[in-house]
Amino acid sequence: MAETIAFIGLGNMGLPMASNLVKAGYVVRGFDVVPAANATAAGAGIAIAASAAQAVSGAGIAISMLPNGALVRELYSGGILQAAAPDTLFIDSSTIDVDSARVAHELAAAAGMVSLDAPVSGGVGGATAGTLTFMAGGTEAAFARGLPVLEKMGKKIVHCGGVGAGQAAKICNNMILGISMIAVGEAFVLAEKLGLTHQALFDVAATASGQCWSLTSYCPVPGPVPNSPANNGYKPGFAAALMLKDLLLSQEAAAGAGAETALGKHAAAIYQNFVSGGNGGVDFSGIINAIRGPA
Ligand code: NAD
Repeated sequence: MAETIAFIGLGNMGLPMASNLVKAGYVVRGFDVVPAANATAAGAGIAIAASAAQAVSGAGIAISMLPNGALVRELYSGGILQAAAPDTLFIDSSTIDVDSARVAHELAAAAGMVSLDAPVSGGVGGATAGTLTFMAGGTEAAFARGLPVLEKMGKKIVHCGGVGAGQAAKICNNMILGISMIAVGEAFVLAEKLGLTHQALFDVAATASGQCWSLTSYCPVPGPVPNSPANNGYKPGFAAALMLKDLLLSQEAAAGAGAETALGKHAAAIYQNFVSGGNGGVDFSGIINAIRGPA
């Protein structure tokens, strides 16, 4: 009989990820605190449990996909570890602070469980298509056990190191992304003022030393990359509020580790202003409109 996987948190990311596990033939027992999320998940073939503890009971693997580190700590200290069979593999795929990830690993180990932090990049589109990138932290043995399941939800699975290494990789990557999106936005706004067309700057920079993902895959002006959110009214995609969350996590980690990340700090402040101005639900590439200022 197919292995049972518990899936806690059936939101924008969790639901399509869990659905891909169902499609791969696993029995998936899900739980979300929001009844409507459970109802939608039931329609996707996920068996809904009455609680997180009930979902993990008898499962070989338990995956969580929650909004933040406080909720992950609460989940891990709220009885699920005691409800699971010894040696169950707990994978947390939420994007959370490195400290909370380490606490989650410690709680799991103390309860006789195996664990991975395995945050993702690729967004809802990647979650739906099963093409996420997973960045995993934990022991070799835990990674080897998690790999076949992660492969059903992602196309690139990287073992980044020991506990917390997956979260560390995620926030370092997204700090690059936040900074580079601002840099690309500033370059387009300067180009506009210099009388250069968007396409001309794109054609040069896309194959020159200014090339980066924010430019060539996610161009913040309409036109050069037809499927970027700029062509769709800056509808996310990846919402500015989530970018801010990740930049603040990077700053929290930098402060804790004694790292000087001046541009990361500045990017966090720029996105904080953008989100405080009511743009939390706008795609993060919409930052170019704040850079350009009022027309
Ligand atoms: P979401 O808010 O849509 O989903 C989170 C779900 O968790 C919600 O349905 C919520 O009700 C549920 N939940 C909260 N506490 C719970 C608990 N104690 N038990 C059970 N369910 C609980 O968020 P999302 O977009 O799915 O993101 C989830 C995580 O993935 C976040 O950490 C986010 O930063 C990360 N992430 C999101 C994206 C993206 O594009 N949305 C991309 C990469 C990573």
